[in-house]
Amino acid sequence: MLESSDVADCSDLRPHVEQLRKLSFKVGTYRPPSEGGSASLLLRVTENCAWNRCTFCEMYKQHRFVYRSVEDIKADIDAVRAICAELAAASSKLGMEGKVTRELAAALIAQAPDLVENPGFATAFNWLLSGGRTAFLQDADSMMLPPQELAVAVAYLRQALPSLVRVTTYARSKTLARRTPAHLRAIREAGLDRLHIGLETGDDELLALVRKGVTSDEHIEAGRKAIAAGFQVSAYWMPDLGGRERRRQHAENTARVLSAIDPHYIRSRPLVPRPGTPMFDEVRERRFLLSSPHERLEELAWTIGSLEVSSRVCFDHMMNAWVARRGGLLFRQDYEGYRFPEEKALVMERIREGLAVPESMHRDARKLMRVRSL
Ligand code: SF4
Repeated sequence: MLESSDVADCSDLRPHVEQLRKLSFKVGTYRPPSEGGSASLLLRVTENCAWNRCTFCEMYKQHRFVYRSVEDIKADIDAVRAICAELAAASSKLGMEGKVTRELAAALIAQAPDLVENPGFATAFNWLLSGGRTAFLQDADSMMLPPQELAVAVAYLRQALPSLVRVTTYARSKTLARRTPAHLRAIREAGLDRLHIGLETGDDELLALVRKGVTSDEHIEAGRKAIAAGFQVSAYWMPDLGGRERRRQHAENTARVLSAIDPHYIRSRPLVPRPGTPMFDEVRERRFLLSSPHERLEELAWTIGSLEVSSRVCFDHMMNAWVARRGGLLFRQDYEGYRFPEEKALVMERIREGLAVPESMHRDARKLMRVRSL
């Protein structure tokens, strides 16, 4: 890393540092792992979750939902663009041809250590350092914005930051199912590429129990509508959401709903009861019995075995902490996952191997990976 003393004349950076100190924009906490590390520009188009009732979810509890106006979102995008311009100018002054590098960060932070505390600066800098190619619109359900406003905001983002090749967001099935095909197409055509949808389960009894606020029919309608409008759909399901008692119905109905949607991506997010949630209390008071690692794998076999999809099936999160016979993880954890139907037999073979591994090894792996459970 370059030291400040290595830079020809850091005093030239002062005007840029002063500008960068003034520039910021709203950045939330949550994004999918596939928007990974600091590669995606994070921009809040709403704040928190308008539903906020799912019994297993702790993400936005204690925070009220906020619509953001198009003017506020555009002002944030303008701030990102201004940060990019200041960084390019500072880089040029240092003879770095406008490139954003770690050395540029070192020079700027040497002049103004407080810049690291500015979430807008840190987010924009890391995004540029990663190539400036992807953006994720926060928070839990961007489809809550009036469709015309979301389309205007996305179009503005695309026009202001032309290096973007992919823009994605979270969306709830309930809201998607209410949107007209024309509205969804308008948002897609404005430049929103991918929707991350929390399916969790396709079982109606479980959907009601965990207060997901949506039915399996609405999940199917939402997923199909999104795909018909041209979106890539990334659907998340939650192994063990039914616990021991309901794992068979959870598996069968989740496979039924996922097969009816046939999303581009299916991502496994096994249940981890989080402190502060109703689900955590149910588990602690033994009103809900979690499955063992082998029982979870059996459930996985029922789900995967019944899937009739042409999706990518992904285990791209450390919660999928089963281990293979020779150690190491049972499943690949990359963001593109296993190609179905071609690799379905391979995934089934991995599950059989996982079932041959003693349960204690799976438990140890969960502890090592710091997957909190009860
Ligand atoms: S809709 Fe999503 S973010 Fe909102 S409470 Fe449910 S799981 Fe959490």
